[in-house]
This record gives sequence, structure tokens and C-alpha cells, in this order.
Amino acid sequence: MSEKVNFGDQLVTPEEKTRRVGEVFSSVARRYDIMNDLMSAGMHRLWKDRFVARVKPRPGEDILDMAGGTGDVAFRMARRGAHVTVADINADMLEVGRERAAKRGLTGLTWKVENAEALSFANSSFDAYSIAFGIRNVTDIPAALREAHRVLKRGGRFYCLEFSTSEWPGFAQIYEAWASNVIPRIGKVVADDEASYRYLVESIRRFPKPEAFRRMIEEAGFVRTAAEPILGGLVAIHSGWKI
Ligand code: SAM
Repeated sequence: MSEKVNFGDQLVTPEEKTRRVGEVFSSVARRYDIMNDLMSAGMHRLWKDRFVARVKPRPGEDILDMAGGTGDVAFRMARRGAHVTVADINADMLEVGRERAAKRGLTGLTWKVENAEALSFANSSFDAYSIAFGIRNVTDIPAALREAHRVLKRGGRFYCLEFSTSEWPGFAQIYEAWASNVIPRIGKVVADDEASYRYLVESIRRFPKPEAFRRMIEEAGFVRTAAEPILGGLVAIHSGWKI
């Protein structure tokens, strides 16, 4: 029998976790973007701007935006002239992304259903790999990091934006109250889906602390790894290089 893993606070088989994460994102896909604004009070836009500034996409670069969902990060990188492949395990999220890209007149993005744990891309395909608010949903995180390393070219950059733990006095408590009480309620009222947003809060709480995650990136073969907390540590940008 396969070892149990966490789906939020529940212990389930790895297969069940992947299936249930799929259900969460299929369920929230159509309201995903408005919910992001409500739940983060618009801050996710600033985090993503900061993240893309760190990735520094250059014209003509090939970038894999993994767990790219509805395209928020990919759009920012494509506007800077990069060739972006938006990959996600969930076809519903990608479909919303395609529609958003069409509305914005953004052409040239490639959309692909992919599991981060087992990518179909050849070795050394990309100049950079980005994953924003995606990795904590992946069942086998070390496998996803090894795949990121494999598909990057030599000299390729890895960047991950993920929730972290605030070090500002009092901030962690304010965030905890917001996350436990407000987010699931917004989920219930706006999306009629309290369970999905409760999973979101639990998955954030369970994600490894920045230093532990930095070591996981290193174990996958990356060098010069770093964990950079932003906004008092509410989120962090992790990075590493393939040599
Ligand atoms: N990156 C986007 C953003 O920042 O708005 C979307 C983030 S959303 C919170 C998480 C995404 O991770 C979902 O679209 C989900 O389908 C995707 N995901 C979860 N597990 C995955 C896996 N194993 N492989 C690829 N994508 C996955």
C-alpha cells in the first residue's frame, strides 16, 4: 500500500491527493482570478510582479511556467518578449487561461496539460522554469524539482513563488485569523465552495518553511539556491541555478 500524504489536513493516498487537487482547481477555475483578488486583497498582483522582475525574462527566451493555471505569471513574462509554455495538470484552469489570453490579444503562448512530476519535455529544453503558488499542490514535490532540473538548459534558472511564514511580530497571528476565518467564508459566499478554500489554507500551513524548501531545491541538483521572503515573509521567492 502506498504511503499516505496530506491533502490539506487529511491523510490520503498519493493518487487520491492528485485527484482531489484536480477537483479543487476544476471547481474554482471560473472564479479563480476574482477569488485571488478578494483573498489576498489584491496583493497577489504585486507578488507576481515582484516574482517576474526576479525571473527577468528576456526576449526570445524559452520559459516553462509550470502549474501556470489561468496564465497570470505567463502573461507578464510573454509581455517582456519571452516564449512561454504554460503547463498545468488541470485542463479547466488552462482553458480559462486561453480565453483570458485571447481577450488580451496575447498570442504566441503555448498551453499544455502536464504533470509537474513527469514532464513530457526533452532534457535541456528551457532557459527558465517558474512555478507560482503551484508546488505546494504537487503530490511528489522532490520529483517535480528533479523534473525542473532535467528540463532546464545548463545555466538555466529555477524560480518558485510560494506562501511562507511571516517573521513580523503580530503579523503571523493576523494572517492566521484571516486565513482560518475569512478565506473559507469568502470561498463560501463568492464561490459557494468552502471546502476548496479550506484546503487552500491548510495546504499553505503545511508547506515546508523557506529554509527547508531551499534545501529540497538543492537536493534536486540546483546550486546557489536562495529563499527570499517578501512582505514580512507572507510569501517567498525561491531560486536556484542549473550548472
Ligand atoms: N500559477 C498560477 C497563479 O499563480 O495564478 C496558478 C496557481 S494555482 C493556486 C495552482 C495550480 O497548480 C493549479 O492550476 C493546479 O491545477 C496546478 N497543479 C496542481 N498540481 C499540479 C501538478 N502535479 N502538475 C502541474 N500542475 C499542478
